[in-house]
Amino acid sequence: MIQDIGEGVFSNAFSLEPASEGDLLFCYRGGDILVKGDEHAPELPVYGELNIPCHHIFYIDGKGCYMGEGILKAPEGFRYVNAPALARSHPDRKTAFAVITGLQLSRWEQARAYCGRCGSQTERSQIERAMVCPKCGQIEYPKICPATITAITSGDKLLMARNRNSPPGRYGLIAGFCEIGETFEETVKREALEEVGIKVKNVRYFKNQPWGFSDSQMIGFFAELDSDDETLCLQESELAEAHWFTPEEVPHPANDISIFSELVWKYLEDHGIERK
Ligand SMILES: [Zn+2]
Repeated sequence: MIQDIGEGVFSNAFSLEPASEGDLLFCYRGGDILVKGDEHAPELPVYGELNIPCHHIFYIDGKGCYMGEGILKAPEGFRYVNAPALARSHPDRKTAFAVITGLQLSRWEQARAYCGRCGSQTERSQIERAMVCPKCGQIEYPKICPATITAITSGDKLLMARNRNSPPGRYGLIAGFCEIGETFEETVKREALEEVGIKVKNVRYFKNQPWGFSDSQMIGFFAELDSDDETLCLQESELAEAHWFTPEEVPHPANDISIFSELVWKYLEDHGIERK
């Protein structure tokens, strides 16, 4: 998965240490990030190259990672590229994970530039990763929205669905954000009922992952259809189609960055199909 970049290499420890020459700079412009070099494996700038105002965000392999402040016109030799696309395709897993996690922080800092309670300009906390209102004391932490994703089975079949916005042939699993007052297991059951009109049982936790693409924490589950009737009733505002697939019919995941692929491969392996 996208966060699997080796043991101990990502550290979100808070720091006020100023950037030094070789530290990495993350300069976002909306959803784009400033890079240089190779088209397929671009590099991030280092502080010594640009010397711009910045603040610490995290460490990768002990190296400081800093967020560039303000929008920068791309200096000669640099260019802006789409950050989510880079994170999905970059051959270096550490760069990919750092870029999407930095984007999550960048979006949050911009969305919390003003206090949601009194409207004053906020400031970065000097003691933790938070935005603080100097007037009313409101504290805002990074936005992380829990969401569940569930591999629902009926006998040896797996339920897969295609979102209205996905191209034909690209299937996913039933997923959705947790609502107030809910346990994760309740979210699993509600989403199954809302999206495809079925009741599920034997909800079992699998794994979870940070998913900076949508500011979420994806919590993966397996569950079983709680009926002999496999009829599906689609929520047409969300889904274009949904079907029960046999192990041989299940499309193999296109990459290994998401918990979606982990869930599908676990299901396939349980049915004797080896992971590629
Ligand atoms: Zn305030």
